[in-house]
Amino acid sequence: MLLHVCCAPDATVAVERLRETGIEPVLFFYNPNIEPEEEYERRLQAVVKLCESWDLKLVVVKKGKEDWFRSIADFLHLGEKSRRCEECIRHRLIVTAQFARDKGFETFATTLTTSPRKDAKLINSLGNKIAKQLGILYMPSDFKKRNGFLRSVQLSRELGLYRQNYCGCLKSLQERMKKDALRHSQ
Ligand code: SF4
Repeated sequence: MLLHVCCAPDATVAVERLRETGIEPVLFFYNPNIEPEEEYERRLQAVVKLCESWDLKLVVVKKGKEDWFRSIADFLHLGEKSRRCEECIRHRLIVTAQFARDKGFETFATTLTTSPRKDAKLINSLGNKIAKQLGILYMPSDFKKRNGFLRSVQLSRELGLYRQNYCGCLKSLQERMKKDALRHSQ
């Protein structure tokens, strides 16, 4: 299985649960949505640390920024959890599925369903559609279930992994800063 990894904390519980069922995934870090550059490196290094700690194989694809931006450009005016995010997720899953198919993996999946802020139903529906189009299998998941998110927090703490406080793109960073400013002014 090729497992798309959005960040190290979300990957912890996903890998733990896959290993419980006998699946040894190869991790795939493709996230051109993460901005700015320093934040991208910080999140990537956290994934590298996880892979070293747990003896996992990792594939990193750094290109794709322009294609990603093209996929969300028409929806930049919309907020988080809108079509903007749908297209951002679709883009990352398509690239994962294409890579998986080209390299001979049977299945792909994503750690995006660990986050309570992400809609697993939508993610799984996108994954299934892409899988059908590309002739590969997608494994639906909802890693946040059965206290999955709490488990990811616990494992990240134990491993000393960096945990971000915004989704990834500059828009989500601005949205987070606005929310924080509002909270502090009250
Ligand atoms: S908020 Fe997250 S999912 Fe939505 S567009 Fe930005 S990086 Fe992508």
